[in-house]
Amino acid sequence: MQKISIAIHGGAGTILRSEMSEEKEVAYKEALQEALDAGYTVLEKGGTALDAVEQAVISLENCPLFNAAKGAVFNALGGHEMDASIMEGKTKLAGAVCGVHNIKNPVALARQVMQQTEHVLLMGEGAMDFAATIGFPFIDDDYFYDDFRYQQWLKIKDSEKFQLDHSDIKDKKFGTVGAVALDIHGNIAAATSTGGMTNKKFGRVGDSPIIGAGTYANNLTCAVSCTGSGEYFLRGVVAYDVSCLMEYKGMSLEDACNEVIHHRLQSIGGDGGLIAADANGNITLAFNTEGMYRAAKNNSGYEEVSIYK
Ligand code: ASP
Repeated sequence: MQKISIAIHGGAGTILRSEMSEEKEVAYKEALQEALDAGYTVLEKGGTALDAVEQAVISLENCPLFNAAKGAVFNALGGHEMDASIMEGKTKLAGAVCGVHNIKNPVALARQVMQQTEHVLLMGEGAMDFAATIGFPFIDDDYFYDDFRYQQWLKIKDSEKFQLDHSDIKDKKFGTVGAVALDIHGNIAAATSTGGMTNKKFGRVGDSPIIGAGTYANNLTCAVSCTGSGEYFLRGVVAYDVSCLMEYKGMSLEDACNEVIHHRLQSIGGDGGLIAADANGNITLAFNTEGMYRAAKNNSGYEEVSIYK
């Protein structure tokens, strides 16, 4: 039987059972299940891993609980600047956008960059011009207004502070979303989408739209989507590091992910997690934080939707 599998995440961080209400937990789990099903349905019908990760990420982007698209955090100017990327393991083609606004599903725009241009990463107004050129739909600012996110921003807006997602200053939560998948044709893909950090300024961009840092896919090794303290993931070239350990050291997917998340990333002070898949049907969900919103499923009967360690 040809294997299919998918894994998704909705961010990692200080996610404690003691601080979570029952309703909130149910809401998160339902949203994760919905996104998992959106991606898995594509795979079950014989669709591509690329389509599956795009659909799973779109589902998470459309949910205000996560820091991507609809639930994107506010930047220092009270607006939104969103980043997304997607990569296909068979061709090693990739597309990404950063600093975009008024785009309902940045991951879908990233895919258009991959398919309709010779470039990999388009930024800000240029990316928006590209979107207009190809007739990509825009959506009003109101769509992105979320009172919870707005209150978070109000608390720190006049300070020099910036913070990750919906965290109180004492703890950290990364609400970025992502997906990795293996399709029936034996190909893998990865995608990631984020609103970045609350109160970010100066055009700050994290790891999420950077191929090799927040997202990577190569059929010979793995598909990876990351979430965490972006600056550390950038410096650790985390997603590509997992691939390199597999390619050059012959490590298994699980060993490579654990080495990167629990040793190499931690040694430079980075916290967060990643989801990864390989072409043999393996899935790894690794994080060095208290929790990670995550879910995974394959056609050998494995399915999980989890939050805590
Ligand atoms: N990695 C993302 C960033 O630094 C944040 C997150 O994972 O929530 O932009």
